[in-house]
Amino acid sequence: MSMKGLQRFMVGRSGSDQLSVFLIIASLVLSWTGRITGVTIVVTAGYVLLGLAIFRILSRNVAKRRSENYLLLKWVEPWKKRLNLTGRQIKEYKTHRYYECSGCGKKLRIPRKKGGGKIKITCPACRSQIIRKIY
Ligand SMILES: [Zn+2]
Repeated sequence: MSMKGLQRFMVGRSGSDQLSVFLIIASLVLSWTGRITGVTIVVTAGYVLLGLAIFRILSRNVAKRRSENYLLLKWVEPWKKRLNLTGRQIKEYKTHRYYECSGCGKKLRIPRKKGGGKIKITCPACRSQIIRKIY
């Protein structure tokens, strides 16, 4: 099939989205793991996921597929946030420290203090005062 033909074929179909990409990657991991360990049910599960991904990509029920994808994105969101924060913490390790407010759970970014002892922080969001060890 030519590129144009493929484009025409895909008109009105859901196409690939993050969930389908996720399913394809999961299916590759499963069939690979299954083959190495010799557990055929895992290989089969991999094929099922691949089938699901193809079904979703070719599906004409675009609204339904979009809402499925939305669920995945919503599920991933807090993980992405946590990962971003961890990345920032590592990057700013020399200059800043992050403390969690015990009142509202907000992460507080505080310029690094040298030496031992404790630090008193007032949360700008909920005004609760927290005392933490300097690290
Ligand atoms: Zn707070």
